[in-house]
Amino acid sequence: MFSLIKLQRVFTVHQVPKAFHEDSIISGYRHPRSSATDCVLSLFQLTNETLNVWTHFLPTWYFLWKLMTVLLMEDAWCDAYTWPLLVFLFSCCVYPLASSCAHTFSTMSTRARHICYFFDYGALSLYSLGSAISYSAYVFPDAWLNSTFHAYYIPAAVLNTILSTCMACYSRFLERQSPRLSKVLRILAFAYPYLFDNIPLFYRVSFSTFNEILIHVNGSLLTPTGHSHQLFHVCGIIGTHFQMKAIEADMVLRQSQLLVTVPPFTFNNTVGSALVCVCISLGIICLYSLPLLCGSSETHTTGTEGKKCEH
Ligand SMILES: [Zn+2]
Repeated sequence: MFSLIKLQRVFTVHQVPKAFHEDSIISGYRHPRSSATDCVLSLFQLTNETLNVWTHFLPTWYFLWKLMTVLLMEDAWCDAYTWPLLVFLFSCCVYPLASSCAHTFSTMSTRARHICYFFDYGALSLYSLGSAISYSAYVFPDAWLNSTFHAYYIPAAVLNTILSTCMACYSRFLERQSPRLSKVLRILAFAYPYLFDNIPLFYRVSFSTFNEILIHVNGSLLTPTGHSHQLFHVCGIIGTHFQMKAIEADMVLRQSQLLVTVPPFTFNNTVGSALVCVCISLGIICLYSLPLLCGSSETHTTGTEGKKCEH
């Protein structure tokens, strides 16, 4: 089957424009003006993006299967108690899918690359909100249930999601002038919501039994680790898997207690909040994409560098 696919030519780091350079990757680059078909076909040969795509594309189906199982087999629509889990699982499907699409089509042009990663950042922010919604519902420590912090936790997470998408998208415009600032801004854009989301978990882990620590630590600590980008993808997905297991465990074990201590989950603080974030994030992505789409494509390539790998 593979012999039927015409292998794409790959390039070294010196043959592609600077905007396409990846840290520590010296070869295996695809043509910076690939067609959509070339991008898809390149997934069946070894390039610098092949592992990045597959490590997120395959897990998308795993989380989709989990989402469908809850949705179809547990009659989730009628039971508000499962809505936070549905939002979380939906965000777990969206972020690897957006990431694999971004890594697949990022070499169509410089502006396509920016827009692809805008969607990737928006999806990651949605995932941080999905985590916050499920933590608020099932994971919050007993001592903090119904507290002021609990009441403002989801509104604050919504705000963080919007800020995070804005900062991460904006960081791409700084890449050329100040690469270091761009990187710092992007790390901050994702580290801050991650730390905020995990405050209830840090509290639980500090005051809980060894078993409870094991359940949650796998999920929360694996996510931000990883050296290369592929490793980051793999650690992120494994972290998400353990996070899902921990959320499901809390959801089942604490159900009888939560149903009597906290007010019933509403559409607004579960699915509604996620929908608001999806709409605002799409608006932000459009706002950042417009100047790229309106400007000429030449302004977004690095001039003569863009011609380096014409063949
Ligand atoms: Zn990635």
